[in-house]
Amino acid sequence: MTEPTNGEDSGRVIILGAGISGLSTALVLLGQGMDVTLLERGEVGGESSWAGGGILSPLLPWDYAEPVNALALRAMRQYADWIGNIERLSGKAAEYWTCGMRAWLSREEADRAKVWCRCHDLEAHWHTDDSLFLPKIAQTRNPRLVIALRAAVTTLGGKLHTQCGAVKAIRAGSRRLQAIETRLGVFHAARFVIATGAWAGQPLGELAPAPHIRPIRGQMLLFKLAPGVLDTILYADGLYIIPRRDGHILVGSTVEDVGFDKSTDAGTAQHLHARACTRLPALTGVAPVRHWAGLRPGSPDNIPVIDRHPDFDNVFLNVGHFRYGVTMAPAAAELLADLMTDTPPSLDPGPYSWTAAAGRQWHTSPH
Ligand SMILES: Cc1cc2nc3c(=O)[nH]c(=O)nc-3n(C[C@H](O)[C@H](O)[C@H](O)COP(=O)(O)OP(=O)(O)OC[C@H]3O[C@@H](n4cnc5c(N)ncnc54)[C@H](O)[C@@H]3O)c2cc1C
Repeated sequence: MTEPTNGEDSGRVIILGAGISGLSTALVLLGQGMDVTLLERGEVGGESSWAGGGILSPLLPWDYAEPVNALALRAMRQYADWIGNIERLSGKAAEYWTCGMRAWLSREEADRAKVWCRCHDLEAHWHTDDSLFLPKIAQTRNPRLVIALRAAVTTLGGKLHTQCGAVKAIRAGSRRLQAIETRLGVFHAARFVIATGAWAGQPLGELAPAPHIRPIRGQMLLFKLAPGVLDTILYADGLYIIPRRDGHILVGSTVEDVGFDKSTDAGTAQHLHARACTRLPALTGVAPVRHWAGLRPGSPDNIPVIDRHPDFDNVFLNVGHFRYGVTMAPAAAELLADLMTDTPPSLDPGPYSWTAAAGRQWHTSPH
């Protein structure tokens, strides 16, 4: 199939990648009346966006760089309305739930956390069992959010092509991309957005530099208990336990720098399960119903790249949200749309720029 119209004339935008970053970008651009086509190599939301936990906050925000929190906090304030709009457009529930999070911390960490929460207006209560309760932390059931987002995008007139495979060829002139060829045909556009997650370097290949993004594997376990056994997220020493309203419980996760490898291993499952039982004894003796791994789009310091590509005036990036792409989605999409339309940006774009990202280094442990 070859797209019949010339995208340069129509003002069409092509978004590569239909995970949460690509879909949320499409939603904003469609809302501004643009003609948007999404090209997805595989299935919509079939990678990290499906595999994640759906906690809508950095796990321990006081441990993260300010640019992570600036984007995350803006998104957290937008989330309820953002999901409400998606649910109205799609007629599908994304199971947004302000269930709160209870985190076990050392005294020293708790003191730091309390100061941070006060400064950032995040409600926090210290419990006598050495846990801090953050009642305003919410979650979404991310596989359902993907389904709702997809339906919202098509309701607004967005076009979606799945199973495109890898990019086969690129047509480009001086500082402008003209068309992308996939196994489904040649797609012309006036502007292109790269939202390909851990595969941020794939679409442009050898043609242009890629941002420093690499896959970081996370393994997850899923259990099924009776509804109501757990009604808040639990966190301790890097482990989290997330309840869904229907009694499903997610336990995660690992942070593994192993390349494009989504395999899982029994030893990790046993380790996650054993640790989860110490915080939620109801999981003792219960076999997991599923064990999977996803590839986070890892970036130094967890700071995404939301910017125009330095080599092309009509190519933009929304990639590298690492552990918090579900959380950041509305604010990241809003910022990218601001940059694409020369609108004064909703927050300082500097930390998310190509140049800032190029100056950041990977730490030995990619947290
Ligand atoms: C185990 C785990 C737990 C997580 N928990 C949380 C959490 O609790 N909260 C949170 O906020 N975040 C969480 N995350 C992180 C979050 O899932 C990611 O940051 C987010 O999903 C990234 O979305 P994305 O759309 O950028 O990438 P992806 O969802 O990976 O989407 C990229 C898409 O691009 C497609 N693609 C790749 N190459 C091409 C190409 N050449 N052409 C077309 N399409 C292409 C892929 O097939 C894919 O569908 C977690 C992730 C994992 C793995």
